Amino acid sequence: MAALELTQVRKVFDGNVVLNDVNLRIENGELLVLLGPSGCGKSTLLRMIAGLDTISSGELRIDSQLANHLPPAKRQLAMVFQSYALYPHMSVYDNMAFSLKMAGIHAAQIREKVQAAAATLQITHLLDRLPKALSGGQRQRVAIGRAIVREPAVFLFDEPLSNLDAALRGQMRVELARLHKQLGATMIYVTHDQVEAMTLGQRIVVLNQGRIEQLGTPAQLYRTPATLFVARFLGTPA
Ligand code: ADP
Ligand code: MG
Repeated sequence: MAALELTQVRKVFDGNVVLNDVNLRIENGELLVLLGPSGCGKSTLLRMIAGLDTISSGELRIDSQLANHLPPAKRQLAMVFQSYALYPHMSVYDNMAFSLKMAGIHAAQIREKVQAAAATLQITHLLDRLPKALSGGQRQRVAIGRAIVREPAVFLFDEPLSNLDAALRGQMRVELARLHKQLGATMIYVTHDQVEAMTLGQRIVVLNQGRIEQLGTPAQLYRTPATLFVARFLGTPA
């Protein structure tokens, strides 16, 4: 069963069509990469899936249920942003515990979930620190930890590593792939970085000016780019 299904999805901002004819099935447990240049509509697509932007027309289904108007909190999704968006005045522990406290979960259970996520992300020693005392990579781990504790069915990553230096990006990519295996969750990973897409994605969607140019495995995209845009963007021979 598809975890998420988009049918003829379109987004119009102030008369400008920024997404058009988007048809996409994301299977349960898959790691799908959404790749495309800046401004092509990647974040908008993620935000519509998360319920942070409205869908102008077309259908979004989550577990087969029409979800166009489902409130974000009912979608069992968690989004991780490039900007981390941590609460600056809260410790790492409190940042990770916050959404669980809001949901009224018992303190002992919160502690268990936060400890488990911290162990997975190797940030147990940082739980008492404030975000300002962390490196960029550590902050991004906390942002991911905040998503993990909610045990979402689907993780939405919006360029989560683009503020990190190249070495750290490579390391975090490996960790994300491991996390995907360990959690068995569905993940949609947005990036403008071809290398990142090719190393991380099981399937890659190439987006250009609001339309899907091609969907395929890294090998398919590399060997048989469907359009000149895909060939050029991936730097493969056309
Ligand atoms: P990407 O994430 O691929 O860089 P975005 O989804 O952020 O692209 O943006 C796609 C297009 O939609 C861009 O042209 C952008 O200017 C426009 N856009 C995004 N958000 C808004 C908004 N809130 N209001 C008007 N235009 C927007
Ligand atoms: Mg974006």
